Amino acid sequence: MPQDTIPFLITYDDTSFLLSSMEEYNQLPDSLKQPEVLQQIQSYLSENYPAETDTKDTPVVFMLVSAFMFIMFMKMIWSAKKELRKTIVDNSDPNSADSCLTYKGAELHFGTEEIKSVCLKYNSYFRNLSPEKQSRFIERVQQFIRHKNFHIYSSKGYKEMPILISAAAIQISFGLNHFLLPHFSDIIIHPEEYFATDPLRILVGNVQGQSITLSWKHFLDDYQKPADGKNVGLHEMAHALQVQYLFRKSRGENEFKHDFEHYDRIDDKIRSEEKIKTNSLFDKNALSNQNEFWATSVELFFEKPADLKQDHPALYESICNVLNQDMLHR
Ligand SMILES: [Zn+2]
Repeated sequence: MPQDTIPFLITYDDTSFLLSSMEEYNQLPDSLKQPEVLQQIQSYLSENYPAETDTKDTPVVFMLVSAFMFIMFMKMIWSAKKELRKTIVDNSDPNSADSCLTYKGAELHFGTEEIKSVCLKYNSYFRNLSPEKQSRFIERVQQFIRHKNFHIYSSKGYKEMPILISAAAIQISFGLNHFLLPHFSDIIIHPEEYFATDPLRILVGNVQGQSITLSWKHFLDDYQKPADGKNVGLHEMAHALQVQYLFRKSRGENEFKHDFEHYDRIDDKIRSEEKIKTNSLFDKNALSNQNEFWATSVELFFEKPADLKQDHPALYESICNVLNQDMLHR
């Protein structure tokens, strides 16, 4: 029975993910290895795996106990995952399960011109791409939509919802080879702010389990103000990309992780500098922890690239490397 195997739910402000082993924890970048998280894991392990039995003289008993514990452990993982799925449903459905429209992306079949006209109207990043890059962008949006299920908590769904939310994912990953975020199978859309439980809070976007959830009102408002430094869609996609690449990518070459670790080394220093500034580009939430700092840095990278580069050239440069795109040289 591997003692270092854990089904452990890590929760930050609007992001949570399941770690499946101590090894995964050890591979996290330093910013995510917070003392309180390690403490939670250690107390979880000591509660669930108390001191080892002396097995030298009782190999058969030991094997039986191990087999029993293994079965219990698998059950525990299963129920932890089930609980996680249940939480997503609870979070997403404060009023009635009947009010949710579900669309399978594979059945939506939006045409190239349809996607183009929606993106031209609402997405300024797309408007500024060359015609060749616009074609590539549209193809990626189509692929992304095909791989997701869209759950809309409203009596009416609009084609702009799946198209523009997928476009936000494609925008952030446009420089990367892998852009499907396969860990996330579901996109949940609420008309406006929604409740999340444990702890009870009101959210406009969050990433949990295999879902990316957004308030449509806030998502659209933010895309209509493309240079104010706020964009909840890009913010949540930044969390999702991080979860995808740091925790769910198979072993082997992982360029994102390598570049992210470089980014991670400079962000601590900048957060301390920004905390004492009166005119910081970063709000209080962004400075509260490294996870929020990453997501907010991505918002600023896309919406206020010149300001970000002027204040923090090294940070700007490292985000260019992580995302493999440069907003000031497109
Ligand atoms: Zn966040």
